[in-house]
Amino acid sequence: MYRILLALSALLLSACSTVAPIDHNNDALRVECHWDLQYPSVAPADATLAQLREAATRRLAALNLNAQWELSSEGATAEAFTDSEQDRQRLHRLLSVVLPGLERYPSSFFANVRLHNIVLVKELAVGGQRRLAMPMAEVDSVAYADNSAKLCPAGMEMRVHHEFYHFIDYREHNDYYHADPAWLALNPAELTYGKGGATFYGKNLQDVGHAKPGVVSLYSSYGQEEDKAETFGWMMTPDYAARLDLYAMQDANLAAKLRHMREQFRKYSQAGDVKNN
Ligand SMILES: [Zn+2]
Repeated sequence: MYRILLALSALLLSACSTVAPIDHNNDALRVECHWDLQYPSVAPADATLAQLREAATRRLAALNLNAQWELSSEGATAEAFTDSEQDRQRLHRLLSVVLPGLERYPSSFFANVRLHNIVLVKELAVGGQRRLAMPMAEVDSVAYADNSAKLCPAGMEMRVHHEFYHFIDYREHNDYYHADPAWLALNPAELTYGKGGATFYGKNLQDVGHAKPGVVSLYSSYGQEEDKAETFGWMMTPDYAARLDLYAMQDANLAAKLRHMREQFRKYSQAGDVKNN
């Protein structure tokens, strides 16, 4: 039963970073993302699958992370990248965002939150719904996927950090969905969260920044767990962080949430064991 609950939690949460099932090309971050921001290639354009895997393995190993190429998780399905031309391009695109995103953390950060594996796959689906990422705290892993939709790269990096924060949240509270009084105390009195990230999707909605006082984005307002992940995701993605800083200058509640997340980053970046509290 516990395992089923874990799988269900992951299923609901991972809905946050997906394209809508009714339009696989809808990028919910399309409007809010700067498309002209390009990420450098991680390998030569003609790199083979083996060369791409080697580059990823080496760069993740420098962070004490293991690259994994297949996903095995209750209720989720995904495919491994093959050595076809199309798959090489897709893996290249995914790595060009995921690797620099993860390299924004010191390796001590991953050790402190006990993240060991990065699963890189295509066609990730949970309960039949396509997902771009999925936290798997029970196996010390986070999965990132290319589902062939053309996504704004900076938006995909924001998803990298957003999904990682769900993992951190789980480590701190043994639950993806918990009431966190310290976080809730940072909200303006009039803010009421929606019914969770899963209710955002399937409607081809577009996310927008600072949609209401106290939250960094519209999606933040869908649930406490999404608010934390969004605030962290924007803070960690340089292009988004610049906008978050501007919002925070005009919004004391949001400024307090940003301080909270900066403290989280500082705490887990320390060398040596950091106790969750
Ligand atoms: Zn989320």
